Amino acid sequence: MTAAPVPVLLVHGGAGVIRHGTDAAREREVRAALAAALRAGQARLLAGDPALDAVTAAVTVLEDSPYFNAGRGAVFTHDGVNELDAAIMDGATLRAGAVAGVRQVRNPLQLARAVMERSPHVLLAGAGAEAFARAQGIERVTPDYFHTEDRWRELQDALRQGAHGARVDHFGTVGAVALDAAGQLAAATSTGGMTGKRWGRIGDSPLIGAGTYANAACAMSGTGWGEFYIRTAAAHAVCMRVALLQQPVPAAADAVINHEIPALGGSGGAIVLGADGSFALPFNTDGMYRGCATGGAAPRVAIWPGEDFA
Ligand code: ASP
Repeated sequence: MTAAPVPVLLVHGGAGVIRHGTDAAREREVRAALAAALRAGQARLLAGDPALDAVTAAVTVLEDSPYFNAGRGAVFTHDGVNELDAAIMDGATLRAGAVAGVRQVRNPLQLARAVMERSPHVLLAGAGAEAFARAQGIERVTPDYFHTEDRWRELQDALRQGAHGARVDHFGTVGAVALDAAGQLAAATSTGGMTGKRWGRIGDSPLIGAGTYANAACAMSGTGWGEFYIRTAAAHAVCMRVALLQQPVPAAADAVINHEIPALGGSGGAIVLGADGSFALPFNTDGMYRGCATGGAAPRVAIWPGEDFA
């Protein structure tokens, strides 16, 4: 008899250029939010709940924080509104659910999960997704819930610089991947997209295989310049390297995130977890908000390159 796997949970709160040491109080708050997300997901795993529940719990905490570009802290579009995207995937069954461009759903990941579990579809967008949320009794909020001063200022800066949803120096998307005690994997990602995005732009996060993917061997949630994650089918590429080519998780993640994507001109990071509990948190930006909880051990969080994670 083989021993039950030790549950593992990884989270990220985005990769991006974050000036080291410029705001110590904010950095403390961000670290506390990452740790709270890890504790919420870890509690589910330790209770024997499926990986899907752990990633849902962790991402919900991050969506409720104003510090990340998802849920409450979502960035603004060019037109000054918030359009949110999210996806979830179950590695054991390849079931998936996603939403794009929702404006009044407090926790888009919960709506993505409802799409997976309570609809025959995988991806719902815009007004239809809002109608589905209403029909399913998913919590809705007025658009001002998503108005934070920091994000509003970011939009004004972007508009002054003439950006059109292609600002590439800050990524605050959130995500989680988990391995449960039954050895099953799940991945989830939630985002406001990119500051100043227009024309109904949808990034990689809600696209299964781009920003979010899980199979029996591997789960990934990405953060970065979404167009490049879509073009490389990044999350699917990493997981197929692990599943079919039997590459170690760190090598598979490094090949796609740190080589394929930068070779095209993109940047970002990811959290990747294997069914054997091995994991990697690669990024090629100045930092990535990230964290890990293994078994019942205290969660560990990191932001800067070189922060010890072992
Ligand atoms: N990947 C997200 C997008 O392109 C942005 C991010 O990671 O913050 O929509």
